[in-house]
Amino acid sequence: MNIILLGPPGAGKGTQAQRLQNDLGLVQLSTGDMLRAAVASGSALGQKAKGIMEAGKLVPDELMVGLIESRIGQPDAAKGFILDGFPRTEAQAAALDAMLAKSGKKLDKVIEMDVDEAALTERVVGRFTCAKCGTGYHNKFKRPKVDGICDVCGSKEFTRRKDDNADTMKTRMAAYRAQTEPLLPYYRAEGILKKVDGMAAMDEVYRQIRAVLAGA
Ligand code: ADP
Ligand code: ADP
Ligand code: ZN
Repeated sequence: MNIILLGPPGAGKGTQAQRLQNDLGLVQLSTGDMLRAAVASGSALGQKAKGIMEAGKLVPDELMVGLIESRIGQPDAAKGFILDGFPRTEAQAAALDAMLAKSGKKLDKVIEMDVDEAALTERVVGRFTCAKCGTGYHNKFKRPKVDGICDVCGSKEFTRRKDDNADTMKTRMAAYRAQTEPLLPYYRAEGILKKVDGMAAMDEVYRQIRAVLAGA
């Protein structure tokens, strides 16, 4: 099964993709995570992307399409993938369709995570991540069971994203509205778009997504 989680920054895409990956054995393809790894490694892509990401703008389509094409072609993606953060523009969506058609694959579902805009800044500003295993947390909505210790791997090191601040969120939201939101009618027309209530508690959002994937 190949799916897209679509929604604004802070909607809960990464949170839900992690659970789907664990439970369904699909691979989570997060372009944000891939770009942050590229920035950390200092690769040519990372050098190009760093300033753009810090400003909350979108990395050029040709770089993103190249990145996702090489990742989707790897053996672990053959059993199915969850796209988290891609596509974000109409050009990326068209390129994705073309690359899937070429390899005889298709998209099964596009899940729209519907969240009130007012909730997003609080979600993003309170977000932090285990530096070792990547598990996502939140100051208020998902604290580790023991303060300062990752539930999953026991690490005591956490990171916060430089772009997770109220100021950059304005640019990121503007990019979402102008460039990513137009993908909703595109996938609706293909008949594969399903909406879930991203304002619900994490477990309830997950339940809704599983219901969609079960064809309910
Ligand atoms: P995205 O990948 O869409 O940017 P995340 O999954 O990283 O979003 O979620 C953003 C922040 O909000 C994280 O700190 C996460 O723990 C928290 N979060 C995710 N889903 C919910 C939810 N349904 N209710 C409250 N907080 C949530
Ligand atoms: P969020 O879901 O919280 O907005 P991501 O981790 O998905 O954040 O993305 C972080 C940043 O990485 C984006 O603001 C953008 O600069 C860049 N990025 C990620 N995916 C894409 C993409 N598909 N196209 C262009 N830029 C991207
Ligand atoms: Zn951890």
